[in-house]
Amino acid sequence: MLAVAGAGHAGLAFALAIRAELGPGVAVAVYDPALAGPPASDPRHFALTPASRALLERIGIWNRLGAVQPILRMEITDSRLSDPVRPTILTFDARDGDAEALAWMAGSDALRMALRDAAAAAGIALVPRAVIRPDGAGRFLLDDGSAIRPGLLVVADGARSRLREALGAGWVSRSFGQHGIVATVSHERDHEGVAVQHFLPSGPFAILPLPPGGALGHRSSIVWSERDDAVAALDNADASDVRREVERRFGQRLGEVALETPVRPYRLAAGIARRFVGEGFALVGDTAHVVHPIAGQGLNLGLGDVEALAEAVAGAMRLGLGPADAEALRGYERARRPVTLGMGTATAGLNGLFSNDAGPLRLLRDIGMGLVDRAPRLKQALVRRASGLGS
Ligand SMILES: Cc1cc2nc3c(=O)[nH]c(=O)nc-3n(C[C@H](O)[C@H](O)[C@H](O)COP(=O)(O)OP(=O)(O)OC[C@H]3O[C@@H](n4cnc5c(N)ncnc54)[C@H](O)[C@@H]3O)c2cc1C
Repeated sequence: MLAVAGAGHAGLAFALAIRAELGPGVAVAVYDPALAGPPASDPRHFALTPASRALLERIGIWNRLGAVQPILRMEITDSRLSDPVRPTILTFDARDGDAEALAWMAGSDALRMALRDAAAAAGIALVPRAVIRPDGAGRFLLDDGSAIRPGLLVVADGARSRLREALGAGWVSRSFGQHGIVATVSHERDHEGVAVQHFLPSGPFAILPLPPGGALGHRSSIVWSERDDAVAALDNADASDVRREVERRFGQRLGEVALETPVRPYRLAAGIARRFVGEGFALVGDTAHVVHPIAGQGLNLGLGDVEALAEAVAGAMRLGLGPADAEALRGYERARRPVTLGMGTATAGLNGLFSNDAGPLRLLRDIGMGLVDRAPRLKQALVRRASGLGS
């Protein structure tokens, strides 16, 4: 039996991916105390890359997501909040990478529900129990005092994983001193599939297009990175003050703006496990690495882990080896740790470069972005890399 600890997006996607590789002959069980009820509501929408879409298609999820919104273009501005105009310093177009879209926006809740339903339909056992720790004799203890002995434990219990600690996988992390504030807004004018990243001195403010709807006919998801002290002040602000702050950052290009959901802050940190694998276990998703959401890559990296681990485990089993074959797990770690470490470093660097107001740095970064904007081959390479399809 293969066991997965954590029925988040990464854990459930792994269960379905290994089922797709090996068929129903291999038993798969997913453990998570949250399976006792419906998933907690999550206002986030994720920008899913073409590589993530391909995986979700293979495991039968893509067509269960309902409406998804393609991102056809991304515009980047670098300005102060008080600046009357925000000139675009860099654009990426899906056509730069010969792609249908740069990414697709899908709701976190829709994705998790689709994964859960598909797992249940595929006969994957969904067990509402927490996996607590190894017992030192090849078994893992559950929160009801019982124990399981899986051929492999895939650890997907999230960024604050306790299992990672109990397994001695290590964790190096840093806080950004920022929160990512998420909400859905509606607006008067059509976004035309354009995502906008405003680099403001307190942190990036992203406007990500969603399918039509809402009070004003068109919708976008915002991810507003803000310093911790300002977020604490927002907690005490009334709804109209919060709306005004959102409007100031949103700008006027899409006309009148209304909040469709309350704002929800997420603490932003970066982290990476020292080891992705060990005897009888492998880490995937946020359990293995957490990155700044500035480039919308966290879950995409997690789905990349899922694909690589499912391939490694299935490959070992087809050769008659065990699912926790040490060489197969090391191969998975070699494939994924450098990629995720690189993305963590790049996103932290971008956030640091732009989340300040120092004049000379501002000039340098704008010159740098302007140079990239005029280099079509470089842009093409960047788009392909961000899509998860090219190197
Ligand atoms: C503001 C913001 C915006 C983002 N935008 C994007 C984006 O646009 N694109 C993108 O790719 N990524 C994005 N991300 C990142 C993305 O949200 C995460 O990478 C992803 O949700 C992590 O999924 P996961 O399954 O690894 O972990 P989680 O979703 O945290 O799931 C962990 C699960 O484990 C369960 N669990 C906990 N303890 C135990 C236990 N002991 N035993 C069993 N189960 C347990 C929990 O109940 C939970 O269900 C964003 C993140 C933030 C903060």
